[in-house]
Amino acid sequence: MSIKVLPEEVASAIAAGEVVERPASVVKELVENAIDAGAGRIEIVVEAGGRKLVQVSDDGEGIPAGELELALARYATSKLQSAQDLFEIDTLGFRGEALASIAAVSRLEISSRMPEASTGSRLSVEGGKTGKPKSIGAPQGTVVRVCDLFFNVPARLEFMRTESTERRHISTLVTRYALAYPDIAFSLRQEDRLNFQSSGNGNRLEVAAAVYGVEVAQSLIQLQPMDPDAPIQVTGFISPPSVNRSNRNEMTFYVNGRWVQDGSLSAAVMQAYHTFLMVGRYPLAILFLEMAPETVDVNVHPAKTEVRFRQQNAVFASVQRVVRATLLGQVTPPQVDLGTSWSATPSHPWPDQPPEFAMLRGLESEGGPPPGTGGDDGMPLLRSVGQVGASYLVAEGPDGLYLIDQHAAHERILFEALMAEKSDGELHSQTLLEPEVVELTPAQFALVEDQLDSLQSLGFEIEVFGQRAFKVRAIPGILMKLSPSEALQVLVEDFEEDEEPLAAEMEEKIAARVCKRAAVKAGQVLSLEEQRSLIQQLEQCASPRTCPHGRPTMIHLSVDALERQFGRRG
Ligand code: ADP
Ligand code: MG
Repeated sequence: MSIKVLPEEVASAIAAGEVVERPASVVKELVENAIDAGAGRIEIVVEAGGRKLVQVSDDGEGIPAGELELALARYATSKLQSAQDLFEIDTLGFRGEALASIAAVSRLEISSRMPEASTGSRLSVEGGKTGKPKSIGAPQGTVVRVCDLFFNVPARLEFMRTESTERRHISTLVTRYALAYPDIAFSLRQEDRLNFQSSGNGNRLEVAAAVYGVEVAQSLIQLQPMDPDAPIQVTGFISPPSVNRSNRNEMTFYVNGRWVQDGSLSAAVMQAYHTFLMVGRYPLAILFLEMAPETVDVNVHPAKTEVRFRQQNAVFASVQRVVRATLLGQVTPPQVDLGTSWSATPSHPWPDQPPEFAMLRGLESEGGPPPGTGGDDGMPLLRSVGQVGASYLVAEGPDGLYLIDQHAAHERILFEALMAEKSDGELHSQTLLEPEVVELTPAQFALVEDQLDSLQSLGFEIEVFGQRAFKVRAIPGILMKLSPSEALQVLVEDFEEDEEPLAAEMEEKIAARVCKRAAVKAGQVLSLEEQRSLIQQLEQCASPRTCPHGRPTMIHLSVDALERQFGRRG
């Protein structure tokens, strides 16, 4: 085949693919345009997770009627004049390809009126084919309506995630921009429900409260002020070590007002938190970096979410230093003293009576299959020896030594008991004396709402109550010690990006989370009885060797391995 220049439609379809990955990308581009247009109010309406409709309205400077067609053309922008400008970008947009790209893969309609114009105008495009502009009456500003996204790109449609996942991405995106621009009043309506709103009164903590909930927002620590002459300015908020998450999703970074994804920035924050947080836990952070535009390249990818810093190390150091200094000014590091919890317990015989395991409630060891009859991956009968570091149980088996992770083991025990109770229809649910209303953040609300059925079958009784709240009537018995809002937090905190298994799997996932929260923690000193009981209950599990999340519950050191280690054998 000979080399040919691609026809315009093919070229724009390829370009569109990079800009418009999913409905949230459409929201991002349109919101950025509205911000660039100096809007004081941005309203976003979404239907069917953005597949059917994404509409963004603003009260910004508008587009002249004569330039509407141009705005939709590829590489047409009012934000750059020369190649030199590319090195000093002070707007969110600059590539002039967003509207063209979106129009290439949807049915798009744009209406706009400039403040001084008496009428506005409207233009429609379908799959890249532009109609004729019409004169209309319209309020000042711009409205872009994007319908039937990807209607002409079946491959993209097929790869689209569920509507709820898309909704979650959209609300994350809108809330991130609202945090960066507290002077703009944002509202997000998804499926006819007001999902998020900010007042535009300039108070960033108030926006944070709408995003993360009042409690978290109140706990946030403002970064210490920096030397105003420093070339890299970092401001914003971090969480105290006690408020943390199991993934990095809540570390949010902005560079010159642009929300960016950058691994080195989260690494800098993590380094600052070193020794303040347990391994695998991550803080919340909302950090705003300001630096001269020519020292950062935002033109890395069409989606404009990646940046390159000219002085990567200086940026890293600035973030690390100010976060560390702020933390040191706030908290004293936790004292972990393993020495005190070491118990030099003498050996004791096999337990012969059903133990009392009061602390780990509700799971008597009678009932289940007799010990040691697990499955193929069952475990042998073990003799409890003692506890190490208040986290691991030491036990002896027919073939050597076993080290058991008490938390993981208890998770497994609770999980199997819960699933058994469920399949027997005997699930223990704790009805509250007074139903309690719990308000969640928009993204969390969407998560719970999607899982109401699974939650019901696990002992939660909750119903939608207002825009973003649930009324909780009952919670699973094993979470009895938690308040209703803590119990709901168990479900929604730290959900992995794009976690969306089938319903049955989802139920197991939720059950696993519930058990994780209810299980005995590492660092908890257990009595001899409790140690023995835990081992005995683990022996009765069908899959005792892994926790419900798939991590090992135990490590085995065989007699053979021990002998080799001690040089008793070659
Ligand atoms: P870019 O933002 O990179 O310039 P876009 O394709 O997103 O490219 O938009 C093209 C042009 O259309 C912009 O440069 C701007 O002049 C105009 N435009 C788009 N959206 C708006 C809006 N909401 N208000 C005013 N002008 C807009
Ligand atoms: Mg743009």
